[in-house]
Amino acid sequence: MKQHILILGAGFGGLWTALGATRLFNQHGHRDTRVSVLAPQAELRIRPRFYEPDAHRLAAPIGDLLAAVDVDFIKGAAQAIDVAAKCVRYTDAFGASQVCRYDKLVLATGSGLALPGAPGVAEHAFDVDQIEQAVRLENHLKALARQPESRGRNTVVVAGGGFTGIETATQMPGRLRAILGEQANIDVIIVDRGAQVGASMGAEIAESIAQASDALGVSWRLQSSVVAVDAQGVTLEDGQCIEAHTVIWTTGVRAHGLTAQVPGERDGLGRLHVDVNLKVIGQHDIYATGDVAHAATDELGNHALMTCQHAIMLGRFSGHNVAAQVLGVEPLPYRQPKYVTCLDLGAWGAVYTEGWDRQVKLVREEAKALKTQINTVWIYPPAADRDAAWAAADPLVPIA
Ligand SMILES: Cc1cc2nc3c(=O)[nH]c(=O)nc-3n(C[C@H](O)[C@H](O)[C@H](O)COP(=O)(O)OP(=O)(O)OC[C@H]3O[C@@H](n4cnc5c(N)ncnc54)[C@H](O)[C@@H]3O)c2cc1C
Repeated sequence: MKQHILILGAGFGGLWTALGATRLFNQHGHRDTRVSVLAPQAELRIRPRFYEPDAHRLAAPIGDLLAAVDVDFIKGAAQAIDVAAKCVRYTDAFGASQVCRYDKLVLATGSGLALPGAPGVAEHAFDVDQIEQAVRLENHLKALARQPESRGRNTVVVAGGGFTGIETATQMPGRLRAILGEQANIDVIIVDRGAQVGASMGAEIAESIAQASDALGVSWRLQSSVVAVDAQGVTLEDGQCIEAHTVIWTTGVRAHGLTAQVPGERDGLGRLHVDVNLKVIGQHDIYATGDVAHAATDELGNHALMTCQHAIMLGRFSGHNVAAQVLGVEPLPYRQPKYVTCLDLGAWGAVYTEGWDRQVKLVREEAKALKTQINTVWIYPPAADRDAAWAAADPLVPIA
């Protein structure tokens, strides 16, 4: 019987694992291993864009691409991993429970927002973590137009001033005015624990964040946090209330819960510690990639973040290395020393940085053009052409 590599998840990590593995098998003329991707949808959901309007269009089909590289797609959601029996229990497209055997498993189920238990957050707050939530927010914003004019209707509170919070908030004036009218008296407020605007992002980039916030009319409530949410707004730590019919939660992302079913060390975000080949430490046949992997990017102590930039590269390496293990050839140690950020700042533009200390290299229109290129071209899956897809899946392909 053919060996079976089972990849759980069709996000950036899972897709690029599939391409990386089949690329190496093809190079070795190896046809004896079945590679499958198991996920709820045969599409790559473009999570980095979920702060934008029209989130329903932010998914790219990958069925033809997987077929072009001879990867089976299994539609379903994994429920349990039996490490000893080497099988995964999953719910199939019809809701029935099924079992899938594997020889090698690659866990690539990503991450999700873990909402805090604070009163009213689960019931009243919106988020942009998954496509369904981003669409729900979009529908809510459109429905504001049917509400009578009030301070609460015109106010958006964004809880958390990190990457997602800033991108979401700086889009909001434009999104709200498109719905409520150009003359609408909009209030967008970021509530953040930091002492300065953009403090969690680093001093240099924070200057651009502050300028953009001023220009767009986005205000910051610093050294503060939201402790309760209801239909009328939020209560802050100091007891102050802000009337807001739209509250968007952006903090508290954690690795997918299936990580807990793989014996091994986990970091504070629930990510599994992996070795240089992206194999879960202590496991012989299980790899972790993308947002579920705690992986060193260099020898200087830096680690992959929960970013698409890392998930794509981790996927290329995990695919290569799981196939290398099957073939009995040398794996390629995962290395990704270059780290960049490109932060969208709405109508003001964007800011692009290089290095772990986030040195600003481009701002405003130039950075925005780069952000548009990243978000509309670079992170999308390659065409359903096996040679082009395999060329792009080379772990050592130079990064632009
Ligand atoms: C609003 C927002 C903005 C962002 N901005 C940026 C940015 O500017 N730059 C950047 O680099 N990163 C950004 N990110 C982070 C980036 O989107 C993630 O790091 C990336 O998506 C991680 O890829 P992944 O493959 O690990 O997980 P995901 O992309 O989340 O994919 C997980 C996959 O697993 C599947 N899955 C889930 N549960 C199961 C199950 N039980 N069984 C089988 N399959 C399952 C899902 O359907 C999906 O196919 C942003 C994220 C958000 C939410």
